Amino acid sequence: MTERGLARKTQAIFPAPGHDHGRCAADALAHAEAICAARSERLTPVRRRVLEALLESHAPLGAYELIDRLAADGARPAPITIYRALDFLREQGLVHRIESRNAFIACVHNHAIGDPVVFLICEKCGAVGEAGSAAVADTIRGASRAAGFTPKTPVIEIFGICAHCKAAA
Ligand SMILES: [Zn+2]
Ligand SMILES: [Zn+2]
Ligand SMILES: [Zn+2]
Repeated sequence: MTERGLARKTQAIFPAPGHDHGRCAADALAHAEAICAARSERLTPVRRRVLEALLESHAPLGAYELIDRLAADGARPAPITIYRALDFLREQGLVHRIESRNAFIACVHNHAIGDPVVFLICEKCGAVGEAGSAAVADTIRGASRAAGFTPKTPVIEIFGICAHCKAAA
C-alpha cells in the first residue's frame, strides 16, 4: 500500500465536547497500524499502549503521566521504555512533542514527517489542535531557505482559547 492510499478524512481541529472520541481513537490507531505495516515497522505492544494512552483525549500528556497510565495495566514501565516508544512514534510522525508543555500528543493528520506543524493550544481546557497548513509550511520553508537555514523542528505553538471554551464562557 502506498502512503498516499493512507490519506484520511479531514477532522475538526477542535472536535466538539461529547463527540464520538472512541471513533477518533480507533481511526488514529488504524492509521498507525497501516503506516507501520506500509513501512515494515513494528507497532509493538508498548508502542501501541503509549499511542492508545495519548489517544484517550485531545489533550497532551507528559512522559510521567504516560507511565502512570501504563502502570494501570500492571507493571510500572521504566521511563526509558516510554521514551523509546515515544521516539519511535515521533520518528513515524504519529506523535508530536509540545515543547512548551513538555508533553506529547498523537498526530491525527496524515502529513509528511518533518512538515511544519502549527499547534493551537487552549489555555482553558488544555486541548491542543493541530492546524496543518500548506501555506504556512511554504512560508516557513521559504523564509528558512532564504536565510540558508535548515529547520529541524518546524513547530509553532500558539496559545489562546478554543471555540468550545469561548462559546461556554
Ligand atoms: Zn476525539
Ligand atoms: Zn501532525
Ligand atoms: Zn478549550
